[in-house]
Amino acid sequence: MNLREVGRLRVLEALHTASRSSRPELVRVTGLSRATVSSLVADLISVGLVTEDEGTDEGERRRTGRPAQFLSLVPTAGYAIGADLGHQHVRVILCDLLGAVLWDHRVAKEVDRAPDQTLDLVAALVARALTETGVLRSRVLGIGAGIAFPVEKDSGVVGAMGVMPGWVGLRLADELGRRTSLPVRVTNDANAGALAERMYGAGRRADDMVYVGLSAGIGAGILSGGRLLLGACGLAGEIGHLPLIADGLICRCGNRGCLETVASPVAIARLLSDSWGHRVAAADLPGLIRQRNTGALRAIRDAGDAVGRALSTLVTLLNPRLIVVGGDLADAGEDILDPIRAGVLRHTLPSAAHDLHITTGALGHTAESRGAAALILTDAPLLLSTPTTPAAEPA
Ligand SMILES: [Zn+2]
Repeated sequence: MNLREVGRLRVLEALHTASRSSRPELVRVTGLSRATVSSLVADLISVGLVTEDEGTDEGERRRTGRPAQFLSLVPTAGYAIGADLGHQHVRVILCDLLGAVLWDHRVAKEVDRAPDQTLDLVAALVARALTETGVLRSRVLGIGAGIAFPVEKDSGVVGAMGVMPGWVGLRLADELGRRTSLPVRVTNDANAGALAERMYGAGRRADDMVYVGLSAGIGAGILSGGRLLLGACGLAGEIGHLPLIADGLICRCGNRGCLETVASPVAIARLLSDSWGHRVAAADLPGLIRQRNTGALRAIRDAGDAVGRALSTLVTLLNPRLIVVGGDLADAGEDILDPIRAGVLRHTLPSAAHDLHITTGALGHTAESRGAAALILTDAPLLLSTPTTPAAEPA
């Protein structure tokens, strides 16, 4: 990268962070000279990456006799795709440069044993998103994929023997990249949820935060000091496999009595099926809660208590300020939050729980896909500043 490219990157980064800046602000933030900023901005405007508008700052108008000019990134200068691969669903979204969702589609799908079919489905949804929005593939900066399985940090290989037999060892980024001709980044879905809630949702400005996704799989994304905690191999936060019941059910991971075996929607539905003698599916739970079915509410409360106990371990070790609860069970609102809060309080050092806030996510079921897209969007300045990025087409 030559000096001019470095300067261009700094201007793009400043606009990406602030979303809107005047030229004097850019000079201050980037440390570049006024002349350099003016010239770089002129270039960026001419290739369609930056736009200029008149502010409504009356002070500036009085001081200079003309309105302040504000610069911002053109939202349609680039796009990112977010793919959320759960155990039982696939969701694909298309976002503009600022993270606004332009297209969103969710398909119910048994994912665990069907890697090829699932990846074909993701590729088909990506193609549909581009066709239906008219966005050119060349304008997409990449695909971020959040998957409901542990992902090895450096290789992006799906890990955790036993959790997802068909997927272990799969090079997800390569496989999806081959099918879509787009660069792909992969993370665990709970990490994606944590990123999204921090960028767009309930965790704005929260540097020490845990996002816990309570769906067919249970996992946590941990932000400590503003950074995702990944661990040596990217396996940090697998809270669904904390041992909770010594003589409990055998978990899909091969251990016994893991949190997932008592607190996932699947586990709650199994408990109700066994108790009532007829089949209850995880998909029936929202309806049962709406009807205030006492048995279902009791099962939800017990699941919340178990989640609270498991989270208390994280609270004791990591001292977060905020826990954001997402995933399917978050739809139960206070019915799940209350027992989670009580469980955390009962099992945590009082001083660690004192300033802790526990809430549901603000993004609902889109947290994982939006966070996956954010994997790409956080690097948008770098991806846009490389000379190979195609310039905006003429209007
Ligand atoms: Zn387990």
